[in-house]
Amino acid sequence: MKIIGLTGGIGSGKTTVAHLIREAGIPVVDADLIAREIVEPGQPALAELAEHFGEDIIGEDGSLKRSELAARAFKSKEKTAALNRITHPRIEEVTRQRFAELERSGEPLVVWDMPLLIENGHHNEVDAVIVVDVSATERVNRLVKFRGLSRKDAERRIAAQIGDDKRRKAATFIIDNNGEQAALAPQVAQVVAELRSRWLQ
Ligand code: ATP
Repeated sequence: MKIIGLTGGIGSGKTTVAHLIREAGIPVVDADLIAREIVEPGQPALAELAEHFGEDIIGEDGSLKRSELAARAFKSKEKTAALNRITHPRIEEVTRQRFAELERSGEPLVVWDMPLLIENGHHNEVDAVIVVDVSATERVNRLVKFRGLSRKDAERRIAAQIGDDKRRKAATFIIDNNGEQAALAPQVAQVVAELRSRWLQ
């Protein structure tokens, strides 16, 4: 089974592209979703986080108060490292399980929607990389308009990620999402066709 990484900066349109890829019949493993699953009520990572960062990061309904955890975990490098130490191995384990399940069921291709694909060096491990590319200015506009972020917060988040040049350099395929959303479907169709012609006979 070939694993194709899908990445792009915050607000670039990864989720929108992932949706089109699923519609084209290729399964998508969503890294953000897995990161949420492993801290659901009852999961060991949630208990460990509470032990480390304080029981009051858990709400009355037993679910993680994400903003509370973020406020504590991003205070220092050490605290962020502790968060990563608790969550990353579990995220990796579940991701591996998902890939294994898909491979067992005979899927020839899987797309891995992974925002930090390049930051974490995974672009060297996958079989191809799809980058959703949008100028930083446009991403700020969309994050403000559709996500309700302040302009400053959007700019800060973008600045914390790797630059667009580095991302583009790691790309096997670039999907240009600077234009209308309707322009995505034909580009995704073309990438999917290329993936299939490369690996499916
Ligand atoms: P995140 O990194 O925050 O998870 P993402 O990369 O998954 O974001 P999306 O959620 O797909 O990005 O897109 C961000 C927002 O921009 C969404 O509200 C989406 O509907 C909108 N959007 C995506 N593409 C376009 C486009 N070409 N024109 C206008 N809006 C768009």
